[in-house]
Amino acid sequence: MTDVAVLGGGIGGLTAAHELAERGFDVTIFEANDRFGGKARSIPIADEPAALHGEHGFRFFPAFYRHVVDTMERIPDGNGTVADNLVETEATLIASTTGPGRIADTRTPDSVRGWLESLRPAFADELPARDVRFLLERLLYLLTACEARREEELDDVSWWEFIDAENRSPEFRDRLAFAVQSLVALRPQVGSARTIGTVYLQLLFGQLDPTRPTERVLNAPTSEAWIDPWLRHLETLEVEFRPNTPVQRLESNGRRVTGAVVADGRSVAANERTISADEYVLAVPVEVAPEVIPPALARTVPELDRISRLETAWMSGIQFYLAEDVELTRGHQVYADAPWALTSISQRQFWTGTDIESRSPDDVEGVLSVIASDWDTPGVLYDKPARECTRDEVAAEIWEQLKRHLNGPDERLRDELLVDWFLDPAIVEPGGSSERPLADGDRAEHRRVNLERSRPAEEEALDEVGVENQSPLLINTVGSLRNRPPADVAVGNLTLASDYVRTNADLASMESANEAGRRAANAILDRRGTGGRQAQIWGLEEPAVFEPFKRQDRFRYRLGLPHPAEVTQSLRGATRRLGERV
Ligand SMILES: Cc1cc2nc3c(=O)[nH]c(=O)nc-3n(C[C@H](O)[C@H](O)[C@H](O)COP(=O)(O)OP(=O)(O)OC[C@H]3O[C@@H](n4cnc5c(N)ncnc54)[C@H](O)[C@@H]3O)c2cc1C
Repeated sequence: MTDVAVLGGGIGGLTAAHELAERGFDVTIFEANDRFGGKARSIPIADEPAALHGEHGFRFFPAFYRHVVDTMERIPDGNGTVADNLVETEATLIASTTGPGRIADTRTPDSVRGWLESLRPAFADELPARDVRFLLERLLYLLTACEARREEELDDVSWWEFIDAENRSPEFRDRLAFAVQSLVALRPQVGSARTIGTVYLQLLFGQLDPTRPTERVLNAPTSEAWIDPWLRHLETLEVEFRPNTPVQRLESNGRRVTGAVVADGRSVAANERTISADEYVLAVPVEVAPEVIPPALARTVPELDRISRLETAWMSGIQFYLAEDVELTRGHQVYADAPWALTSISQRQFWTGTDIESRSPDDVEGVLSVIASDWDTPGVLYDKPARECTRDEVAAEIWEQLKRHLNGPDERLRDELLVDWFLDPAIVEPGGSSERPLADGDRAEHRRVNLERSRPAEEEALDEVGVENQSPLLINTVGSLRNRPPADVAVGNLTLASDYVRTNADLASMESANEAGRRAANAILDRRGTGGRQAQIWGLEEPAVFEPFKRQDRFRYRLGLPHPAEVTQSLRGATRRLGERV
C-alpha cells in the first residue's frame, strides 16, 4: 500500500514522482526495465560498471523547453544542479551528397546585423524569392490565428499541405523538413500544420531570444548527466523504486482503479501480485497503455479508449565508436539526401567530463551518435528499408549514408576509424528476444566491427530477415489532437503522465512527458486537496505583438468566418481530396 503508485519510470513517471514526493506523498515507482529513464536513459554497452553508454538517440533541448529545464534546476549535482550539465551548441551542419555542406548558426545573434540575418529564414538566400515570401506569409498566418482555429482547423491540415510543399521548389521542401528534423517525432508530410507550425515558430523564436540559448545538449551520457542524479535525489525524498516490475493490467470497478497487477521480474513465468494505492499514475508508453487499461474502464471513459488511435513510428539511434574523434560541427548534423532521414552529433566535444578512452573497448577516441527517423524508404547499400534489414545491415547502411554525405574532397569518415557500434537494443531480429520492453535487459549485443559483413546487395536480399522495434515513438499526425487524453482523465484515482498526454508542447518529447507528469501531479493535488501549491505549467510564448490579431481572429472564428488570409477552408478541402485519393 502506497499513497501513489507510479507505473512506468520514464521522464513522465519520474516527474510526477518528483512533484508529489516534494509535497509529502509516499510514492513508489514500478518500472518494467532494470533501469529508469525510459527512452531517455543511457544503456551500458558492456557488462563492466564503467562501460561507455549508448543511447536510444542523442538528446536535444531547444530554447522553448521550460518544464524539463526547471526540473533539472531542482536536482542537485555536485556543487550545482543537473541543469549545469546543459551546454549550448553553436552550429548545425546540413550535409549533402551533391555539394558542400551548409552550416547554420545556432548561436543567439549578438549584433544588429546578426539579428537581421536571423529574421530571415535561415535558408532564405538559397530559395526563390517567391518561396521565401510565401513562407513568411504562412508563418504570419499561424501567428495571427486564434487558438481555437489552430486546434480545430489547422490540426486537420498537414504541414506539408499548409506550406504547399508539392508546388514549391525542391529546396523549399527540403529546408522546411530539416528545420524540424532534429525533433524526431515530427514528420512534415503527416504531422499537422498546428503542431509542426507551432514548434517551428518556437524554434525560430528560440534563435532570436537573447536571454536563452537556442539549443543545448548534455555534457555526458543522459543517465550520468541527469537520470542517475535524479534517482539519487528522489531517494532523498523517500521515493521507492521497483525495477523489473512491469504492470500487467489495472483492475477496476468501472469507476475507479482498485489495484494494479504487477509481475516480479521480467520473465514470462514471473510471479504476479496485486499492488494497491490511493492514486495510480499511468506513465507507460502510448503503445503499452491500451494493454493495461481494463476494457470496461476504457468503454466508460472515451478519452482512455481513444489512446489506441494514436500512431507511432520508428526512430532509433546508433552510436559509432571511432578510433579518432571526428568533430564535424559543434552541434547537430542533418543529412539532407539520406533516405533514412539521418541526424547526428559528435559527442566527445560535449562530453567534457567523460573519459572515453578508459571506458571503452579498444582505442575509442570519438563517438558519433546517429538517429534514423525513416525506416520505410530503401537505403543506398542494400536497396531495402531499415525495417527489412538485419541489425548488421542497419549499421552498415547508416555508416554508408554518413560517408556519402561527409566524405567530400577530404575523407572525414574512413572505414578503418570504425572500432565498434551500438544499435538501440529495442531493435531486435525475430528469433532474438520477443519480450518487451527491451527485454534483453539492455545487455545488447555490441560487436567488434567487421566490415566484411557488408555483403553485396543481391546476397543480402536473400536473407529477408528484418527487425522489430520494441520501443516505437508517438508521432504527431493530422487530426490526432482529439485523440490525446488529458493527464486528468475522468477516473477518480487515475492520472496519465507520458509524452502522448495533451500538453502545451504537444509533441512526443522529454518536455511533453515532463509537462504531463506535472499535470498528473496537479490533478492529484486538486483531488486530495492537500500538498500545497501546484507544479508550475508554462504555455508556449509567442510575441505579444500578434495578440491583437489573434483577438480579432477569435472573434471571426466564433462568427464562423475564415481567417483573413482566407486559405484555411480551401486547405481543408485539399486535405479531404487528398484523403479520398489515398
Ligand atoms: C531516438 C529518439 C530520440 C529522441 N530525442 C529526443 C530529444 O532530443 N529531445 C526530446 O525532448 N525528446 C526526444 N525523444 C523523445 C523522448 O525521449 C520521449 O518522448 C520521452 O523520453 C518519453 O518519456 P515518457 O516518460 O513519456 O515515456 P518512456 O520514456 O517510454 O517511459 C515509459 C517507461 O515505462 C516503462 N514501461 C513500459 N511498459 C511498462 C509496464 N508494463 N509496466 C511498467 N513500466 C513499463 C518503460 O520501460 C519506460 O521506462 C527522442 C526519442 C527517440 C526514440
